[in-house]
Amino acid sequence: MNPLVWFRRDLRLQDNPALDAALATGKPVHAVYVRPDDPASPLAEGEAARCYLHHSLLSLQRRLAAAGVKLQLCRGKPAVLLPALCRQLGARAVYCNRIVDPRIERLDDATAQCLEADGACLYRHDDDCLLMPEAGLKADGTPYRVFTPFWRNLRLRMTETPWQARLLPAPAKGRRLATVADPQAVQTLGLLPAHPWHEELLQHWEAGEPRALDRLDHFLAEGVAHYETERDYPDRDGTSRLSPALHFGEIAAVRVHALILQALESEADAGVRRSLQRFHSEIGWRDFARHVLHAFPDTVTRSLAPLFERPGMWLPDPGGRGLRAWQRGETGCELVDAGMRQLWRSGWMHNRVRMVAASFLTKNLGIHWREGAHWFRRCLVDADDASNTLGWQWVAGCGTDAAPYFRIFNPDTQARRYDPHGRYRRQWLGERTPVPPLVDLRLSRARALERYRQTRDSTGYGQD
Ligand SMILES: Cc1cc2nc3c(=O)[nH]c(=O)nc-3n(C[C@H](O)[C@H](O)[C@H](O)COP(=O)(O)OP(=O)(O)OC[C@H]3O[C@@H](n4cnc5c(N)ncnc54)[C@H](O)[C@@H]3O)c2cc1C
Repeated sequence: MNPLVWFRRDLRLQDNPALDAALATGKPVHAVYVRPDDPASPLAEGEAARCYLHHSLLSLQRRLAAAGVKLQLCRGKPAVLLPALCRQLGARAVYCNRIVDPRIERLDDATAQCLEADGACLYRHDDDCLLMPEAGLKADGTPYRVFTPFWRNLRLRMTETPWQARLLPAPAKGRRLATVADPQAVQTLGLLPAHPWHEELLQHWEAGEPRALDRLDHFLAEGVAHYETERDYPDRDGTSRLSPALHFGEIAAVRVHALILQALESEADAGVRRSLQRFHSEIGWRDFARHVLHAFPDTVTRSLAPLFERPGMWLPDPGGRGLRAWQRGETGCELVDAGMRQLWRSGWMHNRVRMVAASFLTKNLGIHWREGAHWFRRCLVDADDASNTLGWQWVAGCGTDAAPYFRIFNPDTQARRYDPHGRYRRQWLGERTPVPPLVDLRLSRARALERYRQTRDSTGYGQD
């Protein structure tokens, strides 16, 4: 019986355990990608991410075709479509890679049951994280809530696991007769919007596994040496920009891990070593986000600290005026506005500016972090529920290992420090006429501190 590989957020041929297992059967392999019709499905991507996905699928389809595997593209519910496809193809085994998100794992359970009812089996392979959440718990069996001990433990556990076995070659070309890629089929998924707003956005990105691998190689050869000092400056090309590639699994986190360790082995310069270690720990934050989501699945929409859901914690925003000004980059705070324009036009925002823009929305405007996370989910090409939730709850001060409640980024001070020549602000704002400030930074900061202080005093939150 021919095996079927179900691609999701693992759009690559190399280091792909599900594809490798299917090929190892020695039988002709089929492949499928299913776009969920329900926009609320945790497997559905945001608007900007869908544009990136379109091109990533074109690339995957071409590469699979060269290896003799045809990629089928469908829309609907995997639990309904996959059994039907198995019947049509005469397949009895479906291989996929696990996505660490309890909402998705529940859907996978349902899909597995439907397949079983039809006499087929869903084989799930460990991927997505460096270390699976079940293997990264504290000694008492509870999840880590603070990054530093989490990362220390993860690195230790990795030395005890045969992670190198997850570095797998892509199937050789010519292994079977190549099939023909069909770009029209990708078109039928309807990932690109009718209005061509995505054209400018996509000029900033080249999707697909080969480009992701090139980008990583280039970054490790040329960019990472100064990562520690450059990564905070939004006007510089100081970070890897691998986030959409990692979200869609065009590159495996374990491959990034392997190449960082390899670079560290041969690197003598202390400064470059520090940069490599810092880059490594950012990949660790990606794992941390997944482990936290695994332990606290409700945090995608609710603050981990329940007090942040109590009435009075967030301020009313009559007519949605504040939220709209923030979304449009019209708050009058130049660094925030530049970030929101970068997000809108390129589908990405520099990490420091993400923190500043999120702090402005939640602290200065007093708007629930959920609104900001929702907008980021729509606009980011790297929109990722685990990392996005962690980032927002960290800034709002209501999640695990959160920023202390009194840390309120002052956008003007941040701009002076991290965009001292105003290059970033000019790049994204152009020569716009000054916009009147939406709020007084000093007053709104004082009000936010008061709100947070009341929460702390009435409940003891954040005192340890
Ligand atoms: C409010 C807010 C929302 C965010 N939303 C997302 C999101 O939806 N998707 C997303 O991938 N990242 C998100 N981040 C984390 C971070 O901003 C981006 O991962 C980073 O800016 C991507 O750029 P890069 O690839 O050049 O990062 P690099 O600095 O080159 O880091 C390498 C990789 O490490 C991972 N990483 C880095 N920082 C973090 C972090 N803080 N948390 C988790 N993983 C991290 C990413 O996969 C990234 O590609 C968010 C951060 C904040 C503060």
